[in-house]
Amino acid sequence: SAKKLGRNTFQFYRSAMNDEAQERLRIESALRNALERDEFVLHYQPQVDLQTGQIVGMEALLRWQHPELGMVPPARFISLAEETGLIVPIGAWVLRTACQQARALQDAGFPGLRMGVNLSARQFAQPELVSSIAAVLAETGLDPSLLELELTESLFMHDVAQGVNLLYELKSLGVALSIDDFGTGYSSLSYLRNFPIDVLKIDRSFVNDIATDADDAAIVVSVIALAHNLELRVIAEGVESEEQLEFLRRHGCDEFQGFYFSRPVEAAQLRQMLHEGKHLTNAAPRRLRA
Ligand code: C2E
Ligand code: MG
Ligand code: MG
Ligand code: MG
Repeated sequence: SAKKLGRNTFQFYRSAMNDEAQERLRIESALRNALERDEFVLHYQPQVDLQTGQIVGMEALLRWQHPELGMVPPARFISLAEETGLIVPIGAWVLRTACQQARALQDAGFPGLRMGVNLSARQFAQPELVSSIAAVLAETGLDPSLLELELTESLFMHDVAQGVNLLYELKSLGVALSIDDFGTGYSSLSYLRNFPIDVLKIDRSFVNDIATDADDAAIVVSVIALAHNLELRVIAEGVESEEQLEFLRRHGCDEFQGFYFSRPVEAAQLRQMLHEGKHLTNAAPRRLRA
């Protein structure tokens, strides 16, 4: 009967929930030990200048090398790390490791490469955030202007005034600030005016179909113009094809990152790319910006 079917469906649903809850518990307890066990690793995705074709920076992306689960992507544990507050010590590890890496690249003869580091809302709410970043910069000796903190629009939803103050404190360290996944949050254009931001990163959901979808194309063109009119740099995320690349170049986007050039790679692979001088082979001649 329908009633019986309904109950079975409910039971199925409930047991699925239990599995999910158990999975969460398992991951949470493993997450608590992951730092001590040295199970986290950063991969780095190159960011390429669309005019010169050269690597100009990279984004540090967290992975969890779990002994049984294998390489766990951030989508599977970042929100749990957020909820439990574990993102705070994990984020501190990310920041230090990424800055050490950036400094090491500088020492290896690759000066001026920028390092993007993702900051979570929970870290942003930590009173010690600014002093801990200052400490890492001092400890590693990294030129602060090479550190680019990636923030998402959701950070500013709660207390905008406090958020702005914090951004100015961060800026006073000399670091750069970027808005990640631009256009996907509850954005208000007013923050572009009020916030001391340096970079917009166009979310890859807009980049995906730029070559075929007129609306997405219009949005991307407009965001590039908006960024430039506000004197911000603009980086396109998730570039996977030649067509997307050409479109972005034609419309004056500054930089991109995406599988078309490289997936996120281990530090040693990044270093090898730099040593080999890997660059875009079809770079257009430098063009004057109007
Ligand atoms: P995000 O900061 O927007 O990072 C870009 C994501 O897009 C990365 O996914 C990257 O691998 C992926 N990506 C880059 N190019 C392409 C492409 O051409 N095609 C496709 N399909 N994907 C591309 P990843 O590494 O899985 O990270 C996902 C998200 O997890 C990040 O999005 C970021 O929000 C978060 N995350 C990663 N590392 C950290 C971290 O250290 N701290 C915090 N708080 N969040 C992090
Ligand atoms: Mg990011
Ligand atoms: Mg993000
Ligand atoms: Mg993003």
